[in-house]
Amino acid sequence: MSLYQKIRQQSREFGQRTLDRHLRLGVTGLSGAGKTAFITSLVHQLTYGDQPAHLPFFSVVREKRYLGGQLDQRQALSVPRFPIEQNLQYLQQEPPMWPPSTKGWSQLSLSLRYKAVSGLRAKLQSRSELALNIVDYPGEWLLDLPLLSMSYQQWCEFSWRLFRQPHRQEAAKVFEQHLQACNQQDASELALQNTTEQYKTLLHQFHDTAGAYLNQPGRLLVPGELAGAPMLQLFPLLPEQAAENSALAKKLEQHYQSYCKNVIEPFYQQHFARLDRQIILVDCLTALNSGYAAMQELQQALQLILKSFHYGPTSLLTRLFKPKISKVLFAASKSDHATPEQHQALSLLLQQLLHQPLKLSHYQAATTEVMAIAAIRASVSGYVQVDGLAQPCIRGESLGQKSVTYFPGEIPDKIPSAEFFKQHKFEFLSLQPLRWREQEPLPHVRMDHVLQFMLGDKLE
Ligand code: GDP
Repeated sequence: MSLYQKIRQQSREFGQRTLDRHLRLGVTGLSGAGKTAFITSLVHQLTYGDQPAHLPFFSVVREKRYLGGQLDQRQALSVPRFPIEQNLQYLQQEPPMWPPSTKGWSQLSLSLRYKAVSGLRAKLQSRSELALNIVDYPGEWLLDLPLLSMSYQQWCEFSWRLFRQPHRQEAAKVFEQHLQACNQQDASELALQNTTEQYKTLLHQFHDTAGAYLNQPGRLLVPGELAGAPMLQLFPLLPEQAAENSALAKKLEQHYQSYCKNVIEPFYQQHFARLDRQIILVDCLTALNSGYAAMQELQQALQLILKSFHYGPTSLLTRLFKPKISKVLFAASKSDHATPEQHQALSLLLQQLLHQPLKLSHYQAATTEVMAIAAIRASVSGYVQVDGLAQPCIRGESLGQKSVTYFPGEIPDKIPSAEFFKQHKFEFLSLQPLRWREQEPLPHVRMDHVLQFMLGDKLE
């Protein structure tokens, strides 16, 4: 090999090493928002191949520069791995099934190969590579952030204000009676564990109650690797009990502080601080089905989640770590439960739930976007003739495996009033995934827009 060839090869290798980059993408949302389906689809879209017809908005694919994606098999054994293979199997069963939902945090690493468009990378490398880490974690954990700026007493007041809302009141009664009967001077392990179990039952009841989104502490509901840890012996006493200087109130105050220090702060420092970009999935349609109180609480929960992305120079988060999330996508999931002409209204509704058109908002630290998507399509859309007029409709399989063709109704582009909910019931049905084989592209709605917003600039 001549000296010139050697230098060229070395500089190519050097370029390969220095120009290869990493991106950590966080995926979150409250339980049932669609995280598992989303990551399964995202990974399949990236590893399936370069199908311009299937991902028309994703420029690296459209421009035929995408060379493919591969799962990285060298992931550290200590890191819980997102079960992509099993999830794809669920979708291929007869009849197809949705894969089981997220229970804690997990990760999957991919390497994406592409031809760079121009610049140094294009000159030095025949193919470039982006290492993508996808991190899945429950949105419930972000709901814990406000606890850092509350005292235990304030948290008890906040919780009981929430539990007195009409859609929670009934479920909370038994726990309230249990607390009233508790000996406030008994802070023994047994007493704490017993009441924590009762509170856990209540949280699970809330979790199954339509529209009860805001459940704290998040780790009691979705403990992840912390299941059974002593600081998870935590529950809100009645505000008047928390104000007493009893042995129980003192013990719970200690557990509360320990939860903040040993659970919430490390989560932000170890996981959140390392994310570069973030996707937040929101299931607005189930909230509409559940009524006015559900919409109100979803809005409140989203406002709390947004606090994790609001980090001005003086914010609590900036003091805890150096956040670097530069792009946040809010995606209204499961848009295939509605007809396509309703998708615009769905994304406007989500913008209203987030309180403002995000581009005008004060989250200067990150670029934000809102869109309506379906990670894995469960319906096909079309038209039926009604009185000589073409009416939009969707067709899919209901949970009882019955084929259904229907117009699911209009999506409001604003949060409807309490009065409107009294007169109108939304009924967006849950559907089974469409039949699918692994050799085929996975049907979706706007996953190419998601990929373009999240990765497009990194694959230039
Ligand atoms: P997670 O708890 O956030 O991980 O939520 P999952 O991804 O497990 O989704 C919960 C349920 O929502 C699934 O079992 C499906 O019934 C439904 N779902 C999720 N994504 C989609 C989608 O793209 N389209 C449709 N029609 N349903 C979806």
